[in-house]
Amino acid sequence: MHAPMFSLEVFPPRRTAPVGTIYDTMDGLQGMHPDFISVTYGTGKQADRTATARIANTIRAEYGIPAVAHLTARYADRDEIDRELDLFEDAGVKATLALRGDSRVDTDPCGEFKHASDLVSYIRERKPEMKVYAACYPEGHPEAANLDADIDNLKTKVDAGVDHLISQLFFDNEDYLRFLDKVRKAGIGVPIEAGIMPVTNASRVRHMVGMCGSRIPSTVEKMIERWGDDPDAMQEAGIIYASAQISDLVARGVDGIHLYTMNKAVTTRRIWNNVRPLFHSR
Ligand code: FAD
Repeated sequence: MHAPMFSLEVFPPRRTAPVGTIYDTMDGLQGMHPDFISVTYGTGKQADRTATARIANTIRAEYGIPAVAHLTARYADRDEIDRELDLFEDAGVKATLALRGDSRVDTDPCGEFKHASDLVSYIRERKPEMKVYAACYPEGHPEAANLDADIDNLKTKVDAGVDHLISQLFFDNEDYLRFLDKVRKAGIGVPIEAGIMPVTNASRVRHMVGMCGSRIPSTVEKMIERWGDDPDAMQEAGIIYASAQISDLVARGVDGIHLYTMNKAVTTRRIWNNVRPLFHSR
């Protein structure tokens, strides 16, 4: 059995944050040798859309780590997507994570690319040499009628030219393994990394779960009830929970782990130190 992949996700700091914060994060992540670091793409009104390419370039050129640049289709037309893809190419980025993105308000129109699969096909056509990654949802995307319908749509997306999938965060490994089984039976064969977000801050977790619809199992609910008001204890419990989740997933043969760092280098490193021996080749 080959060693599982290990990758990280960072996000561009807010416009109001000091410029150096992302470099502090990157310095703190040094030595982990992830297969890649992905950089999110903001579509909020305050988002600096060029930041993704700039940070991806730094990750690649200054830290020597392959970078994956996220790209969302919402609010973008073909010209804007072309400009972003050119920026990525100029930054030496060899892979992009193609996303539909979310609306700022429910009534917003979709734009030219209705689903991520439309963006995947477009990137395939415009930049055939670029690897295309995409998102998947172990508990089903919140807008999907059910998990099976979401997996049918995922198959369409993968068939449009996806090389690699990264999952939404989840807290119950059984949900992920059930999803994986269904996905493989549906004929989706590309590598899939399991997205893990450490529960180190109660309000942040509730916020994230509110946005992405993931279920909080009773074990995690108990952790939040017990230590939610004690930041140190919550952080320790979150590090232990994420490490145990990763160890179980690796033991059960998943393709890889994608850790949502939330730009928290210390927490990420603590988890990495716990699970490092499980990733033999590093
Ligand atoms: P899609 O694959 O288009 O799916 C969205 C919904 O449409 C699903 O319910 C699906 O079942 C349905 N659907 C898809 N295709 C069809 C079809 N052909 N017919 C009918 N229904 C269909 N957001 C950001 O703004 N920036 C980021 O950097 C970012 N990074 C992310 C990284 C990961 C790993 C994940 C899991 C999510 C990320 N998101 C990000 C959030 C993402 O934009 C939202 O989850 C969004 O709601 C869906 O994007 P998608 O690409 O999965 O959409």
